[in-house]
Amino acid sequence: MRGVRTVDEHRAAVAALLEPTPVVELPVAAAIGLVLAEDLRAAIPLPPFDNSAMDGYAVRAEDVADASPERPIRLPVTEDIPAGRTDSPPLLPGTAHRIMTGAPIPPGADAVVQVEHTDGGAESGGAAVLINAAVAAGTHLRRAGEDTDAGAVVLPAGTPLGAAQLGLAAAVGAATLRVHRPPNVLVLSTGSELVEAGQPLRHGQIYESNGVMLAAAVTEAGGHAEQLRFVPDDVSQFLATLTERIAKATAEGSPPDLLITSGGVSAGAYEVVKDALADRGVEFVRVAMQPGGPQGAGRLTGLEIDGAGTGAGDSGITAVTLPGNPVSSQVSFEVFVRPALRAAMGHPRPDRPVVRARLSETLRSPAGRRQFRRGELDTASGTVRTVGGPGSHLLSSLARANCLIVLGEAAEEHPEGEEVEVWILDR
Ligand code: AMP
Ligand code: MG
Repeated sequence: MRGVRTVDEHRAAVAALLEPTPVVELPVAAAIGLVLAEDLRAAIPLPPFDNSAMDGYAVRAEDVADASPERPIRLPVTEDIPAGRTDSPPLLPGTAHRIMTGAPIPPGADAVVQVEHTDGGAESGGAAVLINAAVAAGTHLRRAGEDTDAGAVVLPAGTPLGAAQLGLAAAVGAATLRVHRPPNVLVLSTGSELVEAGQPLRHGQIYESNGVMLAAAVTEAGGHAEQLRFVPDDVSQFLATLTERIAKATAEGSPPDLLITSGGVSAGAYEVVKDALADRGVEFVRVAMQPGGPQGAGRLTGLEIDGAGTGAGDSGITAVTLPGNPVSSQVSFEVFVRPALRAAMGHPRPDRPVVRARLSETLRSPAGRRQFRRGELDTASGTVRTVGGPGSHLLSSLARANCLIVLGEAAEEHPEGEEVEVWILDR
């Protein structure tokens, strides 16, 4: 344990360890949740051609200027233009083309009369149409380039890619996108008390949960998570599991960017992660926060990896060692790992959305430490209340919370009505 850090110091230290991931080209659909690395320009205008916004009849507005329900105007229907028709028969004066939504406007037409303002060709069996409303020129036309011009930047570099952004990329004809690739993250839990779900529990044992939770948190943040089977509090088993996986991944050409461990970092007698990694590049510190005081971070060095040769040098793999209490583990991920991972993916807003809300109860927090309480934010009233107590083993209240309440280091008492910082969790 080298020293005490503030939350902000440790956040900066972890963020500095993760470099931006390389830019890769992925099929558009595979880029969901990633961040665009280069401006995307439209290869074509949108819409690509003038087209109809309605099912109806393409006309010259002047031909139907006198139409009314009492005195409908009859025009011969000379073409049928469904969406997808690629030739463009011109519209002759005094005629109409039946046209569907999205079909190209024929040259010569300057408006579309929607089908509801016509007889739909019923009277003549489709040969002619009775139009019973006048339309201004331009009615129900969607102009080429109205949405975006050819050559325009439709998605700037740094855009987080959600459904709408991928839809736009596809609409302008992009088949692939250049994005920061997801970080590859190994998750390894430690603890001799841990048992895999599905197995019987003996007294003194618990089901392993941090590995599942942290791997899911990595996935939610947009990374590629791989959960290693947890190991008991045994340094040689810990190192063997780790080096075997890293050697294999390195041989396959995709070494992990980040290792996240849970457990084994505090001040007890069997601190496996600390014992294994203190001489291998990880600095163990105490952070002035609750939950999650004991933390570690660094670049792994000195792993004995056959043939892959990280040897004594920097492996290029960042390690962040989180405490084992489930709430500590998950809150530490939120505070330190998630923002660093998202920044490495090029995300313009690595942090959770932060709002200010009034406490609906009086709270106490430890002096000199930043406390992260599990909360329920009521956006309508702008108030927040705690869910469960501050205990770092209270996983069910974490699962019910929709936010983290941040209680500053400065005060021990936070009266009802005090405005506090709230991190909105995405659920
Ligand atoms: P440690 O940080 O290893 O001292 O663990 C602190 C507490 O968290 C102990 O009560 C552990 O049993 C519990 N714990 C540690 N790792 C896990 C895990 N992977 N899943 C569930 N609980 C854990
Ligand atoms: Mg442990």
